[in-house]
Amino acid sequence: MQVSRRSFIKGALTGGAVTTAFGFDVRPALAQARELKIARTTETHSICPYCAVACSVIIHTLGDKAHNVTPSVVHVEGDPDSPINRGALCSKGITLRQFVVNDRRLTRPLYRAPGSHEWKTIPWDEALERMARLIKNSRDAGFEEKDAEGRVVNRLTNTAMIGGCTDTNEINYLLGKFRFGLGVVAYENQARL
Ligand code: SF4
Repeated sequence: MQVSRRSFIKGALTGGAVTTAFGFDVRPALAQARELKIARTTETHSICPYCAVACSVIIHTLGDKAHNVTPSVVHVEGDPDSPINRGALCSKGITLRQFVVNDRRLTRPLYRAPGSHEWKTIPWDEALERMARLIKNSRDAGFEEKDAEGRVVNRLTNTAMIGGCTDTNEINYLLGKFRFGLGVVAYENQARL
């Protein structure tokens, strides 16, 4: 039987054409290969951080239940139960594992002093303390209780807030509370969840 390149690739993906061509079903072998890859992993549901489509993903982590083992992300795939992407990921989303397992990934806050050319690593406590202090200073300096006509506005226009597509509904809810508490008017978030 003549097997074209197209039908062979299609068969490798579906198992159907190869079954017909070679007389045996490769689907169990393909399923087992996938099963071995994610065997004993923990599944964590998350969202692709790259664009506003916000595709749902399943992150497979190995070793996070064992002592003396550093957990490692071994596989990321689209979530088939998601009504957004139905298990599919684009060419960017499919590389998410490299986004997580990457020795160039920033995991600690960096600080560059005004006028300096150098970034230095600082502790989280120092970074959070500094951010809180600067936000408070800006609010104290810019909060307007009333406008020029004496109308109550309770607004802060010297500070803006942005969010990202990995922000969940819960985070966005808290961000909303936070910004209304500050009086921030300018708020944008690429997540359309
Ligand atoms: S998988 Fe692709 S389309 Fe989906 S959120 Fe990520 S970058 Fe956007």
